[in-house]
Amino acid sequence: MSIEEYEVIIIGAGPSGLSAGIFVARQRAKCLLISKDLGGQMNMIPKLENYPGTIMSSGPLLAKTLENQYLTFNGEMTFDTVERVDEVEGSTDLKVKTGRSEYLTKSLILAPGKVPNNLGVENEIQFQNKGVHYCTKCDAPFYQGRTTATVGVGGYLLESGILLSRMASKVYLIYRGGQLGGDKDMIESIKKKNNVELVPNSSVTLVSGNNSLQQIQIKDNSGVEKMINVDGLFVEMGSKINLDFVKHLVKLNTKGEIEVTDGGKTTHPAIFASGDATNIPYKQIVAACGDGAAAGISAFNYIEKLKGKPGIRSDWKKTIGDTVFHY
Ligand SMILES: Cc1cc2nc3c(=O)[nH]c(=O)nc-3n(C[C@H](O)[C@H](O)[C@H](O)COP(=O)(O)OP(=O)(O)OC[C@H]3O[C@@H](n4cnc5c(N)ncnc54)[C@H](O)[C@@H]3O)c2cc1C
Repeated sequence: MSIEEYEVIIIGAGPSGLSAGIFVARQRAKCLLISKDLGGQMNMIPKLENYPGTIMSSGPLLAKTLENQYLTFNGEMTFDTVERVDEVEGSTDLKVKTGRSEYLTKSLILAPGKVPNNLGVENEIQFQNKGVHYCTKCDAPFYQGRTTATVGVGGYLLESGILLSRMASKVYLIYRGGQLGGDKDMIESIKKKNNVELVPNSSVTLVSGNNSLQQIQIKDNSGVEKMINVDGLFVEMGSKINLDFVKHLVKLNTKGEIEVTDGGKTTHPAIFASGDATNIPYKQIVAACGDGAAAGISAFNYIEKLKGKPGIRSDWKKTIGDTVFHY
């Protein structure tokens, strides 16, 4: 059986991979986007307020719009899981093995994003986006003047507490240990906030409410339980990035993120990366889209150079007479 060959394969149909796809497919390169699902973390955003250009949108709506835009340019798409990427001996090609198939590609764009860790309490899923949130920098603005709690670890918890203290009337900061861990200046700043109540040696054991979250149960190290009324609970337990399928080919940093330089270049000449799985500082949709576009152009330029062509600086084209200008 012959293996299907592509010029560019993109892994992940979150905002980053879909944006990369738009920029590659628009250049008429043969492109396949492989993803477990459409939208990635965007599926956890019922109300999207900070994507420039739309005042009120949702994550799933943006995902569908980006998918349509990609397919308009004849990009191909398959829903599957990438299990392994390998170099092909004696060639510059890469082999991409998925759960159902195998493909060859000249170039690869990694956009597999990340998945936030859950709290792990029984009825948590029922209250997701109905009071239980996993991204304080994204969702804190919805809690202006309201009562909130944040539970988590290290720097994630400190950042969450500081962000919420600017918006909410009250913030319970819940952590398992006796001391807060992380940056000393941030700890000092948290301790000075009048609307933040530290809740050490404790964990959240239950979330409850009618249609949306109303109460959380806190259990301390001695086993004493108490209920507190909150409008919102922020879970800041870090997130999982799974790059087992490609970590033998690209350099990862100590946080397990792909190290990228300008244009989404990785340490492998044929592999580019963008979005939340990379070492970018601000993990937001607009950044993922911008970096995806850059990785798309870089991958396209890479395949053009393999053919001895000059590549492009951006994908904005203008034809004057017989000449095509790229800007
Ligand atoms: C609860 C929550 C709320 C948020 N709210 C906002 C907000 O309001 N505004 C904002 O700008 N940002 C928000 N964010 C952050 C934003 O969603 C992310 O920054 C963005 O989605 C990252 O895009 P990405 O394409 O890098 O990765 P992701 O969105 O994580 O997408 C990665 C894709 O890759 C796929 N994938 C992974 N591994 C494989 C594999 N091996 N094979 C095939 N497919 C694979 C996944 O299934 C997924 O489809 C929020 C995040 C969360 C969790």
